[in-house]
Amino acid sequence: MAGKSKQTKYIFVTGGVLSGVGKGITAASIGAILKAKGYDVSIQKCDPYLNVDAGLLNPVEHGECFVTADGKETDLDLGHYERFLDFETSRYSSVLSGALYQELIDKERNGGFHGKTVQMVPHFTDLVQEKIAKAGEGSDIHIVEIGGTVGDYEGLSFIEAIRLYANRVGRENCLYVHVVYVPWINTSKELKTKPAQNALKDLRGFGIIPDVVVCRTERPAGRDICEKIARFAGISGDAVLNLPDIESVYDVPFNVLKSGVLEILNCFVGDDSDPDMTKWQKFSDLRGKKYDKVYKVGLVAKYAGNEDAYICVTEALKAAAAWNKMNIEIRWINAEDATGNDFKNVDGLVVPGGFGARGAEGKIRAAEYALEHDMPYLGLCLGMQMACVAAARRGGLKNANSEEFGASEENGNNVIYIMEGQKGKEETGGTMRLGDYPAKLVKGTKTYKLYGQGDVVERHRHRYEVNQKYLPEIEKGGVRVAGTSPDGKLVEFIEAPDLKFFVATQAHPEFRSRPLSVHPLFDGFVKALR
Ligand code: GLN
Repeated sequence: MAGKSKQTKYIFVTGGVLSGVGKGITAASIGAILKAKGYDVSIQKCDPYLNVDAGLLNPVEHGECFVTADGKETDLDLGHYERFLDFETSRYSSVLSGALYQELIDKERNGGFHGKTVQMVPHFTDLVQEKIAKAGEGSDIHIVEIGGTVGDYEGLSFIEAIRLYANRVGRENCLYVHVVYVPWINTSKELKTKPAQNALKDLRGFGIIPDVVVCRTERPAGRDICEKIARFAGISGDAVLNLPDIESVYDVPFNVLKSGVLEILNCFVGDDSDPDMTKWQKFSDLRGKKYDKVYKVGLVAKYAGNEDAYICVTEALKAAAAWNKMNIEIRWINAEDATGNDFKNVDGLVVPGGFGARGAEGKIRAAEYALEHDMPYLGLCLGMQMACVAAARRGGLKNANSEEFGASEENGNNVIYIMEGQKGKEETGGTMRLGDYPAKLVKGTKTYKLYGQGDVVERHRHRYEVNQKYLPEIEKGGVRVAGTSPDGKLVEFIEAPDLKFFVATQAHPEFRSRPLSVHPLFDGFVKALR
């Protein structure tokens, strides 16, 4: 309901004690609730890292790199935001210190400061505020999550910027939420509030008295714990709330509702209407259901077992299973040593995106196995490239491979080759084909049927593409093109017409799948497991 309130209101979410205790999910859940009240909600993450974007960060340490529609490589929190808010993030939704410094230094080098000293305050802090204002433009409520914990060296200027933001828009238009961890000490069997008290003292030292303190605990905390923290923080007991661990992140919005945060949010927005959580409730009920059969999905991956590195893929699969009233189990198959024995014990195979030669042969074997045994196969980006290599090998080109792994024009085996314009850029950031691109699906294909239309848009993040010179071999191997870029130059979708479900795309449809509106390719794949 855009325009329900004229002045954008801001919710700032910071963390204390530890990072990684669910600050992002708390922020996203607050957003989901406000959205369910009818507001236009936007959300943004400010990360104090010195990186310019997340494109070159190691997925083992940082989890999946999420790509926005306008092609920015960001961190996995933006994926949570999109899933919880059904909202399309943009390059403005992610702010990293590195990019801000780069902008300031470029401006300084170009004489943009007219001889003045350039300083953290006000120049850096002003720039942070500008980024917040830009990202929140037009929304009723804009949520800003500050990465890390308050007190981290590199985060201080962000804390100062959000403090100053209240001067800019009025304190009544800002809500400060501080998420603190309250540890359970097993030896004395009690929750300890001291780290939280210190974290609140730190925040107060930077001039922010929070409106809400969320205590994250492993087990439910009594009111006495919240009251104790409130007393030391000098805030009202009603403002300190407990969010204990729960099994599914999608139940966090319900936990937030139960915690008492809703009353504070209602007061902040001046509207005590109830959020309409019907669809979330339905999703939650379906997800929790147990059926007789559990379908096994083999996820053939280089970082097997690291859920964060493929979080959009696993979330899309789980949501598709829930709406199809099915239970699935994700079986990690290590791409490096994957063989037929691993594949035969599952009901379907997913080969996600990836970079580098490690594990590539295992992914090719997975596609070969699926083609030979009519096993449901969903290939995402690298998963499509490996499917084309597998098909070309079956079609007679025995040494088919990707240029990424050493194939070449001279050897006549570069079924996947580097895109013109990408040559020589392998080691640099932000240079791939990134973000949303349209594709045209071929009428009469299964892929067309799954989407229910011929014009589609999907997110991309790749450097290599299918070499159409080898389409005859690929087709001989049982796979045809099901969609291309509108000019026909790039292969965007392939499928095996004679099999139950063998579909792959050069794109990353997992980035556009939402728990409340599952992507058709994931829906189709999960249905085919039956
Ligand atoms: N490494 C492949 C490429 O760059 C695939 C990328 C991906 O899976 N995201 O084209």
